[in-house]
Amino acid sequence: MDTATIRKYFESGDLMKFYKSREWMKLRLVALRRDNYECQMCKDEGRYHKAENVHHVKEVKDRPDLALDIDNLLCLCIKCHNLVHKRERIKREPKFWIEEKW
Ligand SMILES: [Zn+2]
Ligand SMILES: [Zn+2]
Repeated sequence: MDTATIRKYFESGDLMKFYKSREWMKLRLVALRRDNYECQMCKDEGRYHKAENVHHVKEVKDRPDLALDIDNLLCLCIKCHNLVHKRERIKREPKFWIEEKW
């Protein structure tokens, strides 16, 4: 799958097609094996949790060219994964978050 295809999926709201592709399924297994099926954020904090998700460090929408790059993948548990994305959103739209809070 090439970058243009991934970008097209994203733009048409069809990114699930990417996540269901054989290429992604295969690569996510490689990432899981590399990280010993362990959440890397929990590990950094000295805890153990099984990895449940494979996260794109540089988001697919920003860097579709890195969507299938093993070095851009990080195995996380669901909790850490949600946390990472929440942080990303705050970084991206600080104003939005402040407004919503008030
Ligand atoms: Zn975790
Ligand atoms: Zn993610």
